Amino acid sequence: MTEIEAKEFLGQAGISVNDTRLAVSKEAAISVSRQIGFPVVLKIASPDIVHKSDAGGVKLGLKTSKQVGKAYDDILEAIGRKHPEAAIQGVSVQKMARPGVEVIIGMSKDAHFGPVLMFGLGGVLVEVLKDVSFRVVPLTRRDAREMLREIKGYPLLEGYRGQEPVDVSNLEELLLKVSTFVEQNPGVRELDLNPVFAYSDGVVAVDARIVMEEGK
Ligand code: ADP
Ligand code: MG
Repeated sequence: MTEIEAKEFLGQAGISVNDTRLAVSKEAAISVSRQIGFPVVLKIASPDIVHKSDAGGVKLGLKTSKQVGKAYDDILEAIGRKHPEAAIQGVSVQKMARPGVEVIIGMSKDAHFGPVLMFGLGGVLVEVLKDVSFRVVPLTRRDAREMLREIKGYPLLEGYRGQEPVDVSNLEELLLKVSTFVEQNPGVRELDLNPVFAYSDGVVAVDARIVMEEGK
């Protein structure tokens, strides 16, 4: 599933995702950007490309039509070079989210426990330090509370170096919604919201990845 398809699926379940549209040409990418309002983000839309930025498929903070046009060309050029075999639907266009704390929520299926949710702070904290917490689905409210507070980076959610503190109750609600989504959709094999931007007044997933079970 592409980012756009995954966000549509999640959005229908009441999970907060940002408005993300497909553009199939440079002209369309520019006109969609104008409709959404600058600054925007362009990303490669391909079911074959899992790590979009590693492939040169993400351009952030585009402020003008000209920048959008160039980003479109640069993305298609990079993907054509690195992944010539990839099926390309076009590019996704979305608004550049305002800065917040980036967190990730993931689901994978354990052979013994079934679906397990993972929570962590985005970026190096997850990739290098593996500072994450896990709970088996379905989550209780208490599980959600504990998951957030268990990670070593929890103080970062409470505000640091002038950053606004995050409203953690919104994150607890999001974890519970993802747990319900996973319960209600057993055909989902893997799920990643990476990143979710967390603010003092809400949360929004700006990237989403869903892998379905074989044959679903
Ligand atoms: P991938 O994980 O496939 O490389 P992402 O969609 O997660 O691609 O984009 C890479 C990074 O770009 C994200 O981790 C995030 O920091 C940033 N990013 C993505 N979308 C947005 C957005 N709409 N607004 C602000 N930053 C974004
Ligand atoms: Mg991502």
